[in-house]
Amino acid sequence: MASQVPAYIENRLFINGEFVKSSSGKTFDLKSPYSHDVVAQIYEATEDDTNKAVAAAKAAFPAWRDLEPSERGAYIGKLGALVAAAHGELATLDALSMGRPVSSYFDGYFAASVFNHYAEAGYAAKGETSLNAKGFMNLVLRQPIGVVGAIIPWNVPVILFAHKVGPALAAGCTIVLKSSEKAPLSSLKLASLVKEAGFPPGVVNVISGYGAPAGTTLSSHMDVRVINFTGSGATGRLVQIAAAKSNLKKVVLELGGKSPAIIFSDADVEQAAIETAASMRLLSGQACIANSRIYVQDSVVDKFKTAFTQHFSATHIGDPLDPATNHGPQADEIQFKRVMEYVKAGKQGLGGLSAGGNEVKMAGGNGFFIEPTIFTDVPEDAKTHKEEIFGPVVHINVFTTEAEVIAKANDSEYGLYASVFTQDVGRAMRMAKALESGTVGINCTSPTISHDMPFGGYKASGLGREGFGWSLDHYLETKSVLIRVKEE
Ligand code: NAD
Repeated sequence: MASQVPAYIENRLFINGEFVKSSSGKTFDLKSPYSHDVVAQIYEATEDDTNKAVAAAKAAFPAWRDLEPSERGAYIGKLGALVAAAHGELATLDALSMGRPVSSYFDGYFAASVFNHYAEAGYAAKGETSLNAKGFMNLVLRQPIGVVGAIIPWNVPVILFAHKVGPALAAGCTIVLKSSEKAPLSSLKLASLVKEAGFPPGVVNVISGYGAPAGTTLSSHMDVRVINFTGSGATGRLVQIAAAKSNLKKVVLELGGKSPAIIFSDADVEQAAIETAASMRLLSGQACIANSRIYVQDSVVDKFKTAFTQHFSATHIGDPLDPATNHGPQADEIQFKRVMEYVKAGKQGLGGLSAGGNEVKMAGGNGFFIEPTIFTDVPEDAKTHKEEIFGPVVHINVFTTEAEVIAKANDSEYGLYASVFTQDVGRAMRMAKALESGTVGINCTSPTISHDMPFGGYKASGLGREGFGWSLDHYLETKSVLIRVKEE
């Protein structure tokens, strides 16, 4: 049975603890990528609204900063409990807005566990002392940096909301978060939970809107001290330019990927096929960490291809609200057309199309569905092999030697997540060392991650790392205090 659509869907901006319409009264239509119906009309933040949200965060900062970590943690913990309770509704809202199947939704519980961690983590924000300079007792202070701006994409909005908001609040900062125009509903629901948890007004502000003016205003704002952005490399570069041109705010970037999975002949080939297919199926291939380049050692390539094709193609396409659906539509028409352009380029290229490659038309015209698509033996320098496709399109190429596959895997501007399947411990360690990637999975692949491991990218996949024990640092300034101590 399909999930229930909530009776009320919030469509306003959340500024200074209140839900308000945009100053211009302008809204944009949010359409379901499945039914193509308008799900909600969302108030779009103007430059003025964005400035108001930053001003509210700035005004709320001193009092929030001066609370003890346990006092801030009490609010964050309440939010965690409310988010866990709202898991089902968040799943429905993301299914409605960007077509994420409710069957694979873990984001609400995941986000709750992130908030629960940050309810306790504020005490880790502390400095050091040094007696190393003669006649001095010196202190290193770690202090909340000020107003944080966060800009998130549409593919896992609830998880990313928690990863930005949780540590910023625990560190003593206040925040303005801009959601994606493709998936604003779950962020607005989270804003309503912020209100319910009783946070002081202005500590958390949530705005909806497009890159311009909301995103550009935030990233170039003189009162925003850190901008934490997750999204495409192209936009990430614009955010960094805006930061440099304004107040040289700190920039954290979590960007795209073209992640390699490497299957050696001694691997458990069936298990590797199951895991790599699941990585590509997640979010219909719309995941930054999807293992979209698979390299298989020559002696097992046929066995792998057969198993992979069977698992990857075992889709149940349909309404994302139906728990039986495991393959949803692309997030919107723009994404659909973009992926189909890459598929077309792949068909015209030198590689072979071994499965899929077509749009799936549903009865009644529902859709933006694309078949799980496999290209084989794609030239290493092909555009489709270099760029992030962000759809259910995978390349399977063959290699012979370890040195050859390391060179091929690393020949990418991206470096987010690499994986290696082998039973040989020595080889696994050599590969872990050689791969230019923020995460390396050994006998596992994405979306396997661990809360307390740093997540982020090498090269053009990003700047900085996030994760328990790693994120807090982005929101803290460092001060040296030099204290002369008179000798008796
Ligand atoms: P996008 O770059 O188009 O948009 C991301 C956000 O930036 C949206 O909120 C958008 O409105 C905003 N934006 C657009 N133009 C802007 C501008 N000039 N200034 C400021 N903000 C602007 O990306 P997307 O299509 O929403 O998301 C897909 C991308 O996100 C993929 O590349 C994917 O790999 C990446 N991603 C990365 C991670 C990670 O953790 N590394 C996680 C999820 C998604």
